[in-house]
Order: sequence, then C-alpha cells, then structure tokens
Amino acid sequence: MWTPIAEEAARATRVLHPDSSQLPRPARRRVLTVANQKGGVGKTTSTVNLAAALAIHGLKVLVIDLDPQGNASTALAVEHRSGTPSVYEVLIGELSVAEAAQVSNQSPNLYCVPATIDLAGAEIELVSMVARESRLKEALSPEALEPIRPDYVFIDCPPSLGLLTVNAMVAAQEVLIPIQCEYYALEGLGQLLRNIELVQAHLNPTLSVSTILLTMYDGRTKLADQVTSEVRGHFGDTVLRTVIPRSVKVSEAPGFGQTVLTYDPGSRGAMSYLDAAREIAERGAEMGTA
Ligand code: ATP
Ligand code: MG
Repeated sequence: MWTPIAEEAARATRVLHPDSSQLPRPARRRVLTVANQKGGVGKTTSTVNLAAALAIHGLKVLVIDLDPQGNASTALAVEHRSGTPSVYEVLIGELSVAEAAQVSNQSPNLYCVPATIDLAGAEIELVSMVARESRLKEALSPEALEPIRPDYVFIDCPPSLGLLTVNAMVAAQEVLIPIQCEYYALEGLGQLLRNIELVQAHLNPTLSVSTILLTMYDGRTKLADQVTSEVRGHFGDTVLRTVIPRSVKVSEAPGFGQTVLTYDPGSRGAMSYLDAAREIAERGAEMGTA
C-alpha cells in the first residue's frame, strides 16, 4: 500500500540519491542573477536551494552572496563574520573569487563566496571606483573561475536596484526573478524590468530574463492561483512549470545551517526545489543544442 510515509521516503530517496538522477551539464557555464528589488520574495531561499539541488545532482555550483545581510552565507553554513575573506574584498580587487570561496557543507560541489557586514559600505565605496558597474564581471572572468570551474554561478542580490545589483546584472547572462504568489507580487516588477533593459542597452547586451520562479504558493487561497495565472499569462514559458509551495520546512532549514534539500529531503519543499532545478538544467542543456 502506498502510504504517506512511503511516499515521503520515496521523495527523500529521489532528492538524496543523485546517482539515479544526475542533472544535465550545460554546454557553457551559466551565470544567473537572482534579482527582485522587492524584499522577502524568496531570492535567497531560491538561490541556495536551487544551487544545492544542482550540486547534489552532480553539477559544480558557485553561489555569490551579494547581500550585506549575508543570508545565503548563513543558509549554506559558510563563515561570514566581519573580517572573513568575502565578496567585499573581491569587489575592491583585493582577493580573487577562488581565494574568497568556501565549500559548503551541503555538497562538495557547492562553493560560496560569503558576504559580511563589510559589504554594507560597498555600495557607496563603489561609486568612486573605476569601472564600478563591472567589477563583479571582472572578478568572474574565465581565468578567475579556472580553479573552481563551476557549471553554474548564482548571484544572490540584495532587495534594491543599486550598484550591487547592477554589478550582478552586468556579470550574468541570465536573470532569475522569484515572484511571491501574493497580492503585491507584481508591483515593482515593471521597475525591475526597466532596469534590466537599461543594463541591456548600456552595459550588458547579452542579458536576458530567462527564468521566473513562483514561490510561497499557498494552495488554500484563490489569490495564489490568480497571481500564478497572471504571471504565466504575462511571461509565458519564461515561468517554470514548478511552483514552490509555502512550507515551514523551507523556512526552518537556514536556522540549522542547511538547505531544505538536506534538512528534510522528503518534504514537498525539497522536492519542488529539485524539480525547479531539473527544469533549469534541462533548459540549459537545450540551449547548447539550439
Ligand atoms: P531579501 O529581500 O530580504 O533578501 P529574499 O527575497 O531573499 O529576502 P528570502 O529570505 O528567501 O527572501 O525569504 C523571505 C522569508 O520567507 C524568509 O524568512 C524565508 O525563510 C521565507 N520563505 C521563503 N520561501 C519560503 C517557502 N517556500 N515557504 C515558507 N517560507 C519561505
Ligand atoms: Mg535575500
């Protein structure tokens, strides 16, 4: 008989036993910026869980924590006390990405360049620097990434459209926008898209919004379905089929220095982040053959 426990155990097996389901490697390295200037929409949660899912399933992944809050560093359990080699030293040119990167306990394939509170002043310091918009791009050059050789780089942005987010958009080819299935979800999206267009026009013509991920879906509300269909109507196939449900396990995991993939691999949250990661990886594999 197929009991709920058996079902959960089967899900846990799928999440944690990568041998049965390696994800396809992209033809070329993919650099994705996870951005939305609206706060608390699931940027960091999506960054760390997608990164962990790809890494556990055989791909090499580097997460750049570009938010002075350091939430991605916390979730990936990497040291980020003030003074720790971090993305701040990378941006000011004191350290290379490989020198600042740490391996996460979530997978030997998963690296993270942490953010410390030192990054809080960077936005202002960057203003007077040479090539202030492309410092992260320089830091992520193929030569600089050679010691790590990631298949995927995810950049977790702060909730603003300032110089840090601009650096992330200049350094990436793709933007991944998490959208929360809530009433005000679409507010501010126009401003984000206009900023992306400005970066495309002036700084990075290869940038595109490749992926939209609906997060914190609550099946009990009509509103969640309305937001979902509105976003799909607007953005079509850019929106992943997988929707991330609102789940206590997802929000608890960072408190234990874990992603939901290891914290509760049998949970719906873990499964849905794995499904979303698979969709992203499969699209990446297709890109190479297109
Ligand atoms: P910020 O703009 O501050 O950087 P963010 O966009 O990175 O925020 P998160 O920190 O990922 O957003 O998520 C905001 C809050 O919502 C966190 O407390 C997180 O644990 C919680 N959360 C995110 N996704 C889910 C989910 N699927 N189910 C339940 N809680 C979630
Ligand atoms: Mg965040």
